[in-house]
Amino acid sequence: MSVSTSRKIRSLMSEQNLKTRKRFGQNYLIDDKILKKIVSTSQIDSKTLVIEIGPGLGSLTQYLVESAAHVLAYEIDESLVEVLQDMFAQNDNFTLISDDVLKRDMDADVQAHYGEAEKIIVVANLPYYITTPFIMKSLEESRKVDRYVLMLQLEVAKRLTASKNTKDYNALSVIMQYLTTPSFQFTVPNTVFIPRPKVDSAVITLDVKKSKYTLPETPELLKFVKACFKQRRKTLINNLHEAYGIDKETLKKFLHEQGFTHQIRAEAIAADELIKLGNDFLENDQCST
Ligand code: SAM
Repeated sequence: MSVSTSRKIRSLMSEQNLKTRKRFGQNYLIDDKILKKIVSTSQIDSKTLVIEIGPGLGSLTQYLVESAAHVLAYEIDESLVEVLQDMFAQNDNFTLISDDVLKRDMDADVQAHYGEAEKIIVVANLPYYITTPFIMKSLEESRKVDRYVLMLQLEVAKRLTASKNTKDYNALSVIMQYLTTPSFQFTVPNTVFIPRPKVDSAVITLDVKKSKYTLPETPELLKFVKACFKQRRKTLINNLHEAYGIDKETLKKFLHEQGFTHQIRAEAIAADELIKLGNDFLENDQCST
């Protein structure tokens, strides 16, 4: 019978005298059923290149190397490098980059270590403190990633996958739906981690809409979306007036022309409609001046 991940992690930590580091968001996943469920959700096959953020003590990595063509992993904690190199010494489809993923050009790393790949999937039990910066940086900069399978704090997972007229719907939900097809997969209780975090987690998938956007050219659009949700309880007119200094009558006229009432709030507008509204707003002479 194979040793459970829970036992492996516990004995590794005591043998090597490893402490979990809070500042790196280290909460190790120890439940094999959930680890396998993440891998099956990932839809990895023998041609997939997986990019793993933060392999930690290899809980997830051990399953990823079994099914993927290659696993390229970024780990910020230097004290884990030797452990990981030893653990996967027999796996020639494992490459470890000992660095902060936020400082890396992932596409250049893929090119350097792997060349061409048919499908690239990012899989990560993300450290909570880099969730949003990592997702935004990666969506902005990477042209190669097809899919993200991410474990996040439950609350953040709900926001990233929320639809209009729900309490979790915000600027990030709209941006995610603009750039990807987001999908909430399953909840993960806080009891399956060492150490146990305060809150539950969830796994989401983001399927990138490659042809639909060119993010570096759309910072103005992202600014518009954020402005719309700046104060949730305020109407769109008030939020846009504050962000852009355009008089309210002009904004009212613009919204009417677009088929919205002047009392509308951003939370009641679906992502694709809000993006269309943003494009029209930015192209409208009276609004852009
Ligand atoms: N994948 C392991 C698991 O599921 O048990 C560990 C997940 S733990 C939540 C997050 C991991 O990300 C830790 O190993 C941590 O050291 C690493 N990490 C934190 N910040 C990072 C960063 N900026 N770049 C790369 N790795 C990072």
